[in-house]
Amino acid sequence: MRDSASMTSEQWGLIKEELRETVGRNNYKTWIEPLELTQIDNDVITFHVPTSFLGNYVSRNYGDLILFKVNGMSPDVRRIDFKVAANKGTDPAAKRAVQSTQSEKPVIHKKGLDAVRTSSQSAVASAPLDKRFTFDTFVVGKPNELAHAAARRVAEGGPVTFNPLFLYGGVGLGKTHLMHAIAWELQQQSPELNVVYLSAEQFMYRFVQALRDRRMMDFKELFRAVDVLMVDDVQFIAGKDSTQEEFFHTFNALVDQNKQIIISADRAPGEIENLEERIKSRLQCGLVVDLHPTDYELRLGILQSKADHFAMQYPDLEIADGVLEFLAHRISTNVRVLEGALTRLYAFASLVGQRITLELSQDCLADVLRASDRKVSVEEIQRLVSEHFNIRLSDMIGPKRVRTFARPRQVAMYLCKQLTSRSLPEIGRRFGGRDHTTVMHGVRRIEELRNQDAQMAEDLEILRRALEG
Ligand code: ADP
Ligand code: MG
Repeated sequence: MRDSASMTSEQWGLIKEELRETVGRNNYKTWIEPLELTQIDNDVITFHVPTSFLGNYVSRNYGDLILFKVNGMSPDVRRIDFKVAANKGTDPAAKRAVQSTQSEKPVIHKKGLDAVRTSSQSAVASAPLDKRFTFDTFVVGKPNELAHAAARRVAEGGPVTFNPLFLYGGVGLGKTHLMHAIAWELQQQSPELNVVYLSAEQFMYRFVQALRDRRMMDFKELFRAVDVLMVDDVQFIAGKDSTQEEFFHTFNALVDQNKQIIISADRAPGEIENLEERIKSRLQCGLVVDLHPTDYELRLGILQSKADHFAMQYPDLEIADGVLEFLAHRISTNVRVLEGALTRLYAFASLVGQRITLELSQDCLADVLRASDRKVSVEEIQRLVSEHFNIRLSDMIGPKRVRTFARPRQVAMYLCKQLTSRSLPEIGRRFGGRDHTTVMHGVRRIEELRNQDAQMAEDLEILRRALEG
């Protein structure tokens, strides 16, 4: 067996990096990482896989994508073989290599459309759906209620009322989640429907692949036999002219047949540059809804729902009051970051076997918190708090320890701890050079009072709102 390594392991490493970007970390870990490049011989690239199931799955769902990426480095490769690594040569399963493209797919295409509709393998393969992305796990709030309602409506099936449904919004606001939720719901209610979810990038890979294999007729037929088509992140095809062209035709064919189409993008159709005008206007024909940036209430709702989930996973782990509120205030970038922060927090707390407190959160999430710092300054907090309690700024910072000054000072310290990323020693320095233990004591005291004293809780809430305004 000649090891004509026209691809080095570094090159494969680079491809894997790209694949990770495209498929996401979880999919990558499950499906791509186990692939072991063994050889490239003429036009066949061979990977060892631990099980034939994995080979099959990867072939069906990522075959085109891998081939596309491999071709960037080794343009001659036309086919991928997945061989089960164990019992090489003796196990018939190993010989019966699972093949990704040409040798398997023609079987599909010869069957024609009737067969295509009855067997899930012979239809356009949908990209894998994330189990967690269902309507049950989607938290609804003001910023996303319209998008959610529209998605629900589409997921009910029934007559197509708006076509396409165009969902847009910034990164991490739930577009993909909603699309998967629609797909899950439709699959459950109408399993006979051919529901296909793809990223625009995957659409392009398949298109390019079909072009190269001279299977455009099959490509067209297969796509036009889809009942519900979802294309995620359609801004990706901006500037890619032939892909746009084909997308446009597929789109029109499906709309003409009254098939539901759902599209997402990171901005409104009219704002996607390098997208043909006729496509823009087609995309605007249906219902265009946007997902707004999250607000505090929605973030808190999402955190609570995730925390409930974690509570089942880590039954022994306690979370202190106020931590979720703190995170909802401080991390306002996007839901993915918010979720990542909570995941990290639980994992960390369970590793060190500690209760999740505000302090633990600040230590564990320092980088995230810094990145989404709201830029409330210590000075601002001191000024506002002294106004609120009617004391002079100099008394807040000065040495006097009488209660009338000490309590507001502690409130200000507490807010500095909550709303800025300053460390305890730093905060101490800005309060007239006090020791960090004094700050810590003050913060604790206010935490206690907040739970015991309704007036204090209210004061804190008013101040926080004013500061974050
Ligand atoms: P997008 O596709 O808009 O970039 P995603 O749908 O991938 O964003 O969402 C990012 C992460 O945030 C996902 O893990 C998703 O489950 C979660 N998420 C977003 N919005 C919500 C929500 N309203 N409720 C629960 N989880 C959400
Ligand atoms: Mg997405």
